[in-house]
Amino acid sequence: YETESEYTFKYSDLQTTLCDPSQLRQKPEVADLKFGHIFTDHMFKVSYHKDLGGWQKPHVGPFENIELHPAAKVLHYAIELFEGMKAYRGADGRIRVFRPDLNMHRMNNSAESAGLPTFDGNELIKCINRLIVVDQEWVPHYESSSLYIRPTLIGTDGTLGVMSSNSALLYTILCPVGHYFGGAVRLFADPAFTRAWPGGCGDRKMGANYGPTIRVNQMAQRHGCQQTLWLYGKEQQITEAGTMNIFLFYVNELGERVLATPPLNGLILPGIIRQSVIEICEEWGDFRIEERPVTMDEMIKLVRKNRLLEMFGTGTACTICPVDSIYYKGQLIRIPTVEQKLPLFVKIRKRLLAIQYGHIEHPWAVPI
Ligand code: PMP
Repeated sequence: YETESEYTFKYSDLQTTLCDPSQLRQKPEVADLKFGHIFTDHMFKVSYHKDLGGWQKPHVGPFENIELHPAAKVLHYAIELFEGMKAYRGADGRIRVFRPDLNMHRMNNSAESAGLPTFDGNELIKCINRLIVVDQEWVPHYESSSLYIRPTLIGTDGTLGVMSSNSALLYTILCPVGHYFGGAVRLFADPAFTRAWPGGCGDRKMGANYGPTIRVNQMAQRHGCQQTLWLYGKEQQITEAGTMNIFLFYVNELGERVLATPPLNGLILPGIIRQSVIEICEEWGDFRIEERPVTMDEMIKLVRKNRLLEMFGTGTACTICPVDSIYYKGQLIRIPTVEQKLPLFVKIRKRLLAIQYGHIEHPWAVPI
């Protein structure tokens, strides 16, 4: 980097403009909250202009529309990426964010893939914390509700042509969210569709990975499924479930219990909940944990032999989501996840929620 501002923006430069009290909006009832529909009063913004030395001064200000040149790179070539993280109001009234350092690391990896400028993640964490403090009354007071945080980085050059963007806008918006899911989900598995491939960007949180999934999700819904189980390759590796990482809990040939999840081989988004589940289970040491490819064939055999105990998805939005069936080649495969006496997914979920809502002090839940 030639200049410090090429390297990063700084929290110490942050300026705040508060809404006029007349602009403040009424907070919704938590029960009415549909994911991603209601936003808080303020937002964070920082722009990058190569010609002006790099990152400019960061700013927290009123939530507002952004203006873009019609040729802006984000609009044509999807030169953009985002993150998803959450803040929780704890039992003690304090607000904590879950493992934000991991989101910052993933965001910078995505930025690199998109040819967008990187930054010091600690500086963005401090800026986001300031935004949350400004809008702290928007962090729901009910357990099971939270404040979803959406950092976004877009290429803003107003020029056509598939080239890196010399200007960018990093912004962060917040929305209060209620309970994310009802019960167990049914997945739609069809080997005709692929979400990610070797040498691609499936392991980056770039918008370009998500737009093309809409049509497949619509097909899933027509078959009564809530999410798509993404398969890869001739051997139909199970990779992810919608926007969740996937876990299988089963009994192997030796009678041992095993928790398996696909490895971070480029086809998998490195989920923060995925990593946390692995680390929690490693700490418990009650069963084997395997990061390895799992195929549809293997899964079906486990089901037939009654050795598949549980299957569940993990992600920031839902934390842990049990799977009860998979629609595959015109047949419904049933999985007894929620029929277990003391399901593993419930035990893990309890542990995660206890950390997130501050029932136990833990370094993963960082007070703002
Ligand atoms: N896979 C995909 C494709 C996702 O979009 C997400 C959501 N970020 C996840 C998995 C889960 O990641 P995390 O645990 O970090 O929310």
